[in-house]
Amino acid sequence: MFCPECGNSNSGMIEGLCRECFLKQFSILKIPENIEVTVCAHCNAKFEEGKWKESNILEEEIIYRALEKAIEIDSLIEKEEIELKILQMRGTIAECYIEAVAIVFGKEIHQTYEANVRLKKTVCPDCSKRNSGYYEAVIQFRSDKRELANEEITQADKIVKKSLRSQFKRNKLAYLAEKAIMKEGIDYYIGSYKAAKKIASDLKNRFGGVIKESPRLISQDKSTGKGLYRIWISVRLPNFKTIDVIKYLNKIGQIIAIDGNKIVANDLNTFDNFSISWKEYNSIEVVKTGKEIKTSNIISKSPSKIQILNPDNYEVVDIDIHKVFKEYEIGDEVNVVKIDENFYIVPEIENNKK
Ligand SMILES: [Zn+2]
Ligand SMILES: [Zn+2]
Repeated sequence: MFCPECGNSNSGMIEGLCRECFLKQFSILKIPENIEVTVCAHCNAKFEEGKWKESNILEEEIIYRALEKAIEIDSLIEKEEIELKILQMRGTIAECYIEAVAIVFGKEIHQTYEANVRLKKTVCPDCSKRNSGYYEAVIQFRSDKRELANEEITQADKIVKKSLRSQFKRNKLAYLAEKAIMKEGIDYYIGSYKAAKKIASDLKNRFGGVIKESPRLISQDKSTGKGLYRIWISVRLPNFKTIDVIKYLNKIGQIIAIDGNKIVANDLNTFDNFSISWKEYNSIEVVKTGKEIKTSNIISKSPSKIQILNPDNYEVVDIDIHKVFKEYEIGDEVNVVKIDENFYIVPEIENNKK
């Protein structure tokens, strides 16, 4: 058999040509001269296969990935090494250079290619929502029967920021569209409902309190009849703090801990701890705030009673003794509260009166 190109009659013809002639016209890879990638000018997400993907990818990375994706390596290649280079940027066009080394039919060949990657800049739907101030939910940060403390507002701002920052990586609608400061509290307008829900639970984990959602119909899709809702999420902080004294069912207790799941109180009759879930919030009555806890002195102690002075009128008051008072001695100062004509000794707790 003769090679139609060079007339050689070597054995081992490939696709009708001798190996030399075959390799001369062989191309390691195919790559279009011009490649176009649609990217969001705001978040660098790219549009691929009908979907907006990722975000915050470096432009260079987008270009390299576009090249990699456009390259089609010939199936006859046994082993290849491909190097991509961006020669220069001309506006939004990257002039690229591709160096390929490959082994085909046992022979190593080197080839180079050129291609242009054009970054078509546009705005992705998430960014366009953000730019237009779109929001799916409003977090109403409030406190029950009192004003929010400045410290609580500062902390809430930090929690909102932090939560959004960590969620934004996965959810581009995790942004603060607006913040409104009002007499009754702070409103945070959040791009994504899901993100807002997470923030509300972060706030509750920090402060405790009660979360309530109320959807409001904002419009109706005429063709499907489906309603479009915006959700108001109220995060209401409790009207009590640790060390306050509360009534709950038939118990009198001093609050010793508050978290996102529950309130823990120390029963002032039995001195056992009990916890109350936030669902029961409305059954809790604050009977004395930490500020209203008074001090008195022990004036005598018997096996069954402890006597203190009523801090208001200095009359002697008898209190049933409990094992937690065992260490107390005559003359010791104790914290006391008067509730419904009864006096209770409040064991000292770490944080002092607020
Ligand atoms: Zn030939
Ligand atoms: Zn975007």
